[in-house]
Amino acid sequence: MKYRRALRAISLVIIVLILSCTTVFASSVTRDSDGTYTSAVLNTSKDAGKLTARFLCTTGSQKVTNDVSYAGDCTVYTSPEGLVMVVDASNSWNFNEIDLQLQQMGVDTIDIFVASHPHGDHIGSFVELASKYKIGRVYKNSHEYTTNTYYSFLAKIQEQNIPCETLYTGDSFMFGDQVLVKIYGPDKGEEEGLNAGSFMDSNDLSLAMKITYKDSSFWTSGDIYITKEMELVERFGDELKADVMKMNHHGYETSNSKEFIEAISPKVAVQMHSLITSKTVAMKYSLRHKALTFYTGQDGTVSISTSGDGKYDIQTQYIRQITNIYGKPAVDGHYSI
Ligand SMILES: [Zn+2]
Repeated sequence: MKYRRALRAISLVIIVLILSCTTVFASSVTRDSDGTYTSAVLNTSKDAGKLTARFLCTTGSQKVTNDVSYAGDCTVYTSPEGLVMVVDASNSWNFNEIDLQLQQMGVDTIDIFVASHPHGDHIGSFVELASKYKIGRVYKNSHEYTTNTYYSFLAKIQEQNIPCETLYTGDSFMFGDQVLVKIYGPDKGEEEGLNAGSFMDSNDLSLAMKITYKDSSFWTSGDIYITKEMELVERFGDELKADVMKMNHHGYETSNSKEFIEAISPKVAVQMHSLITSKTVAMKYSLRHKALTFYTGQDGTVSISTSGDGKYDIQTQYIRQITNIYGKPAVDGHYSI
């Protein structure tokens, strides 16, 4: 009997310990008064020594009814020493959303701006961004697009005298002292002979980049389609492997082939669009490849941070409303993997 009582006492202590641990964990992220985790996701005070990617929600609002449907890419990377690199600038009508989030992050200078390709949902807010923020350098792809949005982008770079460089396969640059950005496409001359006005050709010319910090890596390749994905898999194979990736072309079925996802083997995949664009694509990532998947239209802005050890801390702005195959969201939008 004594033995049983002791056992019961020990079990009780263990339960209390588990409960208190859970409480500490759950309360480590503070919810804002509006019920969101906006402050937590944009808080840069713990970013030193880490590479952080913030996949900005630029989709209008936290609507769960999805009465708007549009794409828009804008990802803000901060280096371990605090430099800022923005990849793409969403649509022209999304500037306020980008601006508010950069302000909340305490950003006043964008050290590097990368334009993956010249479509309006990727460089749309560049002119306003460059009018308000000092931009240190621009990297772009080789596609000379014949749209007013692209002409305004070039004119602004010239007006502000921003150093601008076109990148090709094999190029690389340092983002600070420790983060390497390597380019896997397009090739030099690839834009020649393509249909300049074609949407698909323009998407396939998106800059494909791998961003590496010690043992951690992020992959981003704009809006490339399946044919281009297959070409990359064939040419680079395992070199493409990255822990975190942005789903190509806003998660549409034009892209995100199983071969490409297998080659990247992401632990985490983020889709940037106001909607979950394809259930089939979502299932490829989450069910077949067991990747943790996030959707800016559901999760809001998603912050993914790493000390370079292959481990990631993730925080979402909203708590996802749609679950089912997309996975049950963490109660405080925080994940450690
Ligand atoms: Zn796009």
